[in-house]
Amino acid sequence: MGTGRDFSSGLKDNRSVVTVMSRSLRLKCPACGQSSTFKGPFRIRNHCPSCRSLFKREEGFFVGAILANVMATEFLILVVSMVWLVVFKTSYETVLAALFILALLFPPAFYHHSWSFWLGFDYLIESLPKYEGRDLK
Ligand SMILES: [Zn+2]
Repeated sequence: MGTGRDFSSGLKDNRSVVTVMSRSLRLKCPACGQSSTFKGPFRIRNHCPSCRSLFKREEGFFVGAILANVMATEFLILVVSMVWLVVFKTSYETVLAALFILALLFPPAFYHHSWSFWLGFDYLIESLPKYEGRDLK
């Protein structure tokens, strides 16, 4: 009956995949969606100022974000090379040159989203720990 969904700010374990992924896409905190995950280009926040979910995690966590980035890059290169060779029928050398540039430019461009989506997945699977310390700016 009606829209029975309750979006009142994160009281319950209200983790919808669509909600969290759309927050990740917009580089927002996966838990509350209130504030940005980054405080500047390539600078991830320590924690969410709104709900105190911790963004900076243990060392190993970083590997997952990089892995997500590498996989996305490889997937993109695969798709682009297929499409290019089939649709444009240019020489293989031209395609390789274009893919090389793409491989250089895409990972830094995707850096923020790979982090954001990785945080989102982590939030969906096991939730984010809360930052316990004092506020650091
Ligand atoms: Zn938050």
